Amino acid sequence: MSFHLAVDIGGTQLRAALYSNNHEIPIKLARTTTQGDNQTPQVRLIKLISSIMPAEEKVLAVGVAAPGPVDPDLGLLLEAPNIPGWENVPLQQLLESHFHVPVAVGNDANMAALGEWKYGAARGHHHVLYLTISTGIGAGVIIADQLLLGSRGLATEIGHTTIQPDGPLCGCGQRGHLEAFASGTAIVRWVQEELARGIASSLPTGQRLTGKLITEAAQNGDTLAIAALERSGRYIGLALANLVLIFNPTAVVIGGGVSQSGYLLIDPICRALNLFVMSPAYVRDLVVTTAKLGDEAGLLGALALARSINPD
Ligand SMILES: [Zn+2]
Repeated sequence: MSFHLAVDIGGTQLRAALYSNNHEIPIKLARTTTQGDNQTPQVRLIKLISSIMPAEEKVLAVGVAAPGPVDPDLGLLLEAPNIPGWENVPLQQLLESHFHVPVAVGNDANMAALGEWKYGAARGHHHVLYLTISTGIGAGVIIADQLLLGSRGLATEIGHTTIQPDGPLCGCGQRGHLEAFASGTAIVRWVQEELARGIASSLPTGQRLTGKLITEAAQNGDTLAIAALERSGRYIGLALANLVLIFNPTAVVIGGGVSQSGYLLIDPICRALNLFVMSPAYVRDLVVTTAKLGDEAGLLGALALARSINPD
């Protein structure tokens, strides 16, 4: 029997999983913290992978979902905003020289897109646009069954496209990006501003406010929380009205923590998309749906990447 191994590197957690042919449920799964025991994340990563690497049987390839922009030709992680000091990490070279197995590396949003396309909500589609709405906004695009990377692997940074010049400050340091209007962070910030203005709500003020609490309050009918998700959805729908003109997908998949609000986010997205789109031809056969794989999306995308470089 032969295997593929998938790795998901997060800011707080490392996960590795071993899969046998044609299965998407791992036969082995291991996790550990990204930092700790005075070890570098590289050392912890190699230990974690070693703990599930089969001794006797063959691993055909390793796929890695990395938390930042990746040079796809070199498998080089350029930077990792959530892992201090991690810059220009040659992940592919590091793992290939240690394990003597082909390794491919992709950024986590692209890997989640790949996972949802191969094994999740967009299975069977050939043209897919994936957005993950959480602390920030990440994206991945599949066109004609190919993940779109661009010349240096930096394509489809949709969260940092400009919606309004001089708008609110984005996580990247610029202003007015989609992420600054519609991410989980932006939703919390807007609700805090509304509460400070004296708008009535069941939500707490200050530090205790989180995206999860806002989603729960919206599900319980809180008007301000519903309005916050509607506002986010409207900006995402506006962005999509532009993006469908460029990519002409048949599926739009919305993942990330904020997507757990379901129709409370998807309905305003669809309303804005239909309102702003240039022609109904772009939305007639378009499916807009929430992601299916949850936390597993990055890992399963890394599995799809591993299978693509060295199939069964
Ligand atoms: Zn930005």
